[in-house]
Amino acid sequence: MSGEALWEFTVTGCGTSHGCPMWGAPALWSSDPRDRRRRSGAFLRGPQGQILLFDCGPDLAHQLTDPYRDWDGVSYPSRCITRCDGVLITHDHADHTHGINDLRHLNRLMRGRSIPLYGHNLHLEALRRMFAYCFADGDDLYAGASPALRCVPLADGQPVEIAGLVVVPFPMSHGTAGRSTGWRCGRLAYCTDIKELPASSERWLSDLDLLVLGVLRDAPHPTHQCWDEALALLARCRPRRALFVHLGPEVRYREWAARAPAGVEIAYDGWTTRVAA
Ligand SMILES: [Zn+2]
Ligand SMILES: [Zn+2]
Repeated sequence: MSGEALWEFTVTGCGTSHGCPMWGAPALWSSDPRDRRRRSGAFLRGPQGQILLFDCGPDLAHQLTDPYRDWDGVSYPSRCITRCDGVLITHDHADHTHGINDLRHLNRLMRGRSIPLYGHNLHLEALRRMFAYCFADGDDLYAGASPALRCVPLADGQPVEIAGLVVVPFPMSHGTAGRSTGWRCGRLAYCTDIKELPASSERWLSDLDLLVLGVLRDAPHPTHQCWDEALALLARCRPRRALFVHLGPEVRYREWAARAPAGVEIAYDGWTTRVAA
């Protein structure tokens, strides 16, 4: 087991599927840089420098180049992500997986080492079908032209140790979009793209230091939680801290942060903390 080491948790993208702002919709634009959001992504960094990514969305190259959105163009080369010990897949939607080809450069930076993708078999098989060239069975080494990835299907509710961290995948409902996977990692849980939490998964959200929760907007939505649904879930699970991610283009950081109850924070790209894991 991993014990209680401190891991860094950083949000590299907290926007919904088309990112924020939405082009062609100037009424939804904001001058606050915290309202400029890349597509969904985050990572955990372990005490030995291990890196576990949550998903590999279409903004992945930007997220790994400038994970904290330093923006100054000078400091970022020393802050970029240059290794990956595994990718924890929440589901196969484009905004969470269609940066998969960018993992190729991590293979290169790791001298050819392949990268395991962990998740539910349903989502991993969908990725195999869509991106077959990334999964050359029997050839673990980066070949230069395509990513070298491995699928590692995991059973719901079964703890597994990855790069020194014990993680547990568990099922969530993504509403009419089907099932997604939540990840319990020590005293953090990462639950993006959730409409409802099945009762059988509630145990994985108990005694949390940080619950990262997908909350799209104020109005109800068929596949994502809205503000009121999220607060109802928090009342059931009572994490010490909650962070809202996967924010829609209507969401204004300043407004949501002002009305958030104690213990609830609103994400921005580059949001970072440390958690026991
Ligand atoms: Zn999404
Ligand atoms: Zn989704």
